[in-house]
Amino acid sequence: MSVPITFLKGVKTIRAAQLAKLGVYTVEDLYELYPKSYEDRSIVLKICQLEAEQSVTVRGYVKSVNVHRLNNKVSVTNLRIYDETGNMRISVFNGKYGQMQFNVGGLYAFYGKVIRDSYGVSMTNPAITECSDGSDNSFFTMQPVYPLTKGLTQNILRKTVAEALKVAPPSYETLPKAVLDKYGLLRRDVALKNLHFPASSEAAKESIRRFKFEELFTMQLMLLMLKDEEEKVQNGISFKNAEAENKISEFISALPFELTEGQKKVWREISENMDDCRAMNRLVIGDVGSGKTVLAVLAMLKAVSAGYQAVFMAPTEILAEQHYNSVSKMLSPFNIKVWLVTGALNAKEKRETLSAIESGEAKCIIGTHALIQPTVKYGRLGLAVTDEQHRFGVRQRAMLAEQANTPDVLVMTATPIPRTLALILYGDMDISALKTLPRGRLPIKTYALDYSMYKRICNWILRLVGEGRQVYMVYPIIEENEELPLHSASDRYNELSNGIFKDVRCGLLHGKMTSAQKESVMRDFKDGKIQILFATTVVEVGVDVPNAVLMVVENAERFGLAQLHQLRGRVGRGNLQSYCALFSEKITERMKIMEETTDGFELSEQDLVLRGPGDFFGVEQHGLPPFKIANLYRDTEILQLASRAAKEVLANREHFGDFLQYIRKKYPQRVQL
Ligand code: ADP
Ligand code: MG
Repeated sequence: MSVPITFLKGVKTIRAAQLAKLGVYTVEDLYELYPKSYEDRSIVLKICQLEAEQSVTVRGYVKSVNVHRLNNKVSVTNLRIYDETGNMRISVFNGKYGQMQFNVGGLYAFYGKVIRDSYGVSMTNPAITECSDGSDNSFFTMQPVYPLTKGLTQNILRKTVAEALKVAPPSYETLPKAVLDKYGLLRRDVALKNLHFPASSEAAKESIRRFKFEELFTMQLMLLMLKDEEEKVQNGISFKNAEAENKISEFISALPFELTEGQKKVWREISENMDDCRAMNRLVIGDVGSGKTVLAVLAMLKAVSAGYQAVFMAPTEILAEQHYNSVSKMLSPFNIKVWLVTGALNAKEKRETLSAIESGEAKCIIGTHALIQPTVKYGRLGLAVTDEQHRFGVRQRAMLAEQANTPDVLVMTATPIPRTLALILYGDMDISALKTLPRGRLPIKTYALDYSMYKRICNWILRLVGEGRQVYMVYPIIEENEELPLHSASDRYNELSNGIFKDVRCGLLHGKMTSAQKESVMRDFKDGKIQILFATTVVEVGVDVPNAVLMVVENAERFGLAQLHQLRGRVGRGNLQSYCALFSEKITERMKIMEETTDGFELSEQDLVLRGPGDFFGVEQHGLPPFKIANLYRDTEILQLASRAAKEVLANREHFGDFLQYIRKKYPQRVQL
């Protein structure tokens, strides 16, 4: 079924190597080289109608032809052409392979980008055809624009694809007929022809829709099947155990607070998974401050009380340490020693810890991803919890696969994900939403401001600092540069720490610093040694500085809602009233939304509606293979249909045996997600 690309006329070693650079080895690969866009040569305009920067076709008679030789390889042919509305210039650069011949008085069509300057309108290197009798009508159609690589031109690719469609036309279908019919999708062979050489822009759109649908549908199906299969895996662990239940009750009643309704609900969900002998793969999504850590501790306590080891992984050392401190405190009444594994351990400590992990003596282990190095051997691992690592990667999965029984996995994140996207991004996981904040937490007050308020906010910062509070100031860039007229962390730091904040302890944090430098600045801020921290967005998620009560963001128009929400979550972590001041020359819609909404889930839905620039809730960290044609930002309607179709197919799986088999083959490396 797979026809090598060299089967095509004119594709020899060199061309094949060029195509290989685009990932094209077979004719099928060539078909799936989706056009980036199209040249629509069907729009023919008169010379007087041409506007600068438009790409269109004009038809005109040649009035004069002048050839200039620029050097011995290149010459330029300058044409003057006219129609009944005016005249214009056409320049064609010719390589050493000779020049195109033009007849004065002949009628030609030119497709290209219109240039308008003081000499009038012109085109440079347009596509050209002669419009005499028997001329080529295919010129006036939609032409695909492909990604290129050195040595390939659009014309070569177009010819190669056209040749392939002729001698090895697409022969098979990749979607079930029932799905094509129900969702009104084009057949694959028709869609491929239309995708590469569409008869109209509608035809192109319909084909694109089919391939987007296919991509989202198969990915969704694969994730749902993965979840299905994992659920069938019976070599998971059941942590159901009477003694563990007692400890959990004891722990909950000893907490200095009552669990929120949301925490109770999510804990029930986790607990049920853990009782079951199928392995858990659950994602807990809860805004910053919603109290996810205590859920992790409950799960660890349950695993440990049932005689297993539990690990808790954080993305950075500071966060690991922070978790170590709070978890140790919470577990100390239960005589459970908590072990911390970071780069700060000396060789002896490290050896001792590793051997305790291997022997099973260390039951409750916290650290960074150092915990999944191959050098770390687990005696009896039962549970892995990760914080802000949205999906278990290859290494993590390999580590789990090594265990005698498949450990349960609990993933925690503060990044809310719009419901429609969660379907596909995390289709292989069960999802718990933690929607309530602990009682008594004061909502952060947010202000969208223009620079007329800057001075006043600076004075306010001085007062806050005078009262012993701390402040974050966040910038889109590290240093000022001419291309971007933006405020930067370094420049503001230099300006303000020598100006209005000269008596305040200021610090600077950005991505060009080494991780040791960053950690040390962050620690100084945490310890109160720094009062105002000027930073880029590297300020970590999840770092707890309850004394920081104000987050200032300059050039706030440069950030997406997701990022603003995450930045804002770095204050308001204690009982103090906290604030967020967003500055911009011109207050934007997004800033106003931030002013009105503190609920991350609602913001993530708004983000989907706005589809603005910048980052996007949940999409950055999803860890799925890249999409070739679908765009999660824009194709949400197709995504919803595709998800529905995937569920329908699985619900009637007995009718789709061959197709499901095909999907399994299509994603052989699916465990690498
Ligand atoms: P996050 O979800 O951001 O990880 P944490 O688990 O760090 O949140 O919790 C934030 C703070 O709220 C901690 O100081 C924690 O002790 C406290 N907390 C957690 N649950 C509750 C609750 N039900 N009532 C009051 N405070 C709580
Ligand atoms: Mg946390």
